Amino acid sequence: MPTPVLKFINDLFLPELKFVKLISSPQKRQRIYLMEKVSEFEVCPKCASKSHTVYDHVVVTIRDTPLRSKNIILKIKKRRFLCKSCKKVFREPVQGIFKGFRTTQRYRHHVMWNCTQFSNLKRVADVTGCSEWLVYKCHYEQVELETRKLQSEWPTTVGIDEHSFQRKYGRKEFVTVFVDYNNRKVREVILGRAPADILESENILKIRSRESVKNVVIDLSSGFKLAATTLFPNAIITADRFI
Ligand SMILES: [Zn+2]
Repeated sequence: MPTPVLKFINDLFLPELKFVKLISSPQKRQRIYLMEKVSEFEVCPKCASKSHTVYDHVVVTIRDTPLRSKNIILKIKKRRFLCKSCKKVFREPVQGIFKGFRTTQRYRHHVMWNCTQFSNLKRVADVTGCSEWLVYKCHYEQVELETRKLQSEWPTTVGIDEHSFQRKYGRKEFVTVFVDYNNRKVREVILGRAPADILESENILKIRSRESVKNVVIDLSSGFKLAATTLFPNAIITADRFI
């Protein structure tokens, strides 16, 4: 059972990491913490088998969000696991740090937040203690994440159409195409055209706000009516030749 102080320190860090010790002197403007991940096993990214076998350790240096105007550096002692199924060695991932990045996702978010507070990159770089290049990169990355989040919602008007294509050995395949009518672009394409293909498609089900779709345009000669009314319960279904 960790002491209350240790628990407090752990709460400040990323959820999977455990505080080991403070390395830097407390007088400095920068704090360096040694951390490690604790888990019973890790899952191989190549073949998804569980691995309990630690191969070796590496220490990575990661920048985290400042705490009370002190820059925070995490030295993370990462384990490398050996996967017995595919014989590959892999590094354990840490929640909150993208693979290959040397900053935490929340640090990048912090830089982005500062971008909204100051009108020039130089000032943001001064306040966050990083290079102007990193400020620029974080800014665009966060903008893209926001855009992707928006894209994971249905537009208010959706078109559903089918396309067929001939496979090499004569079999005809069908795909169902979902069109974002608001932005005039293809939103999703799935293999098959039967109601079950559509209603069980994970790609379709993971897009949020189905209930806020107001109009669905389909070609009534197709079999999409059932799928359309089930997927978009609040939408008006309109029959139209596909434009
Ligand atoms: Zn494996």
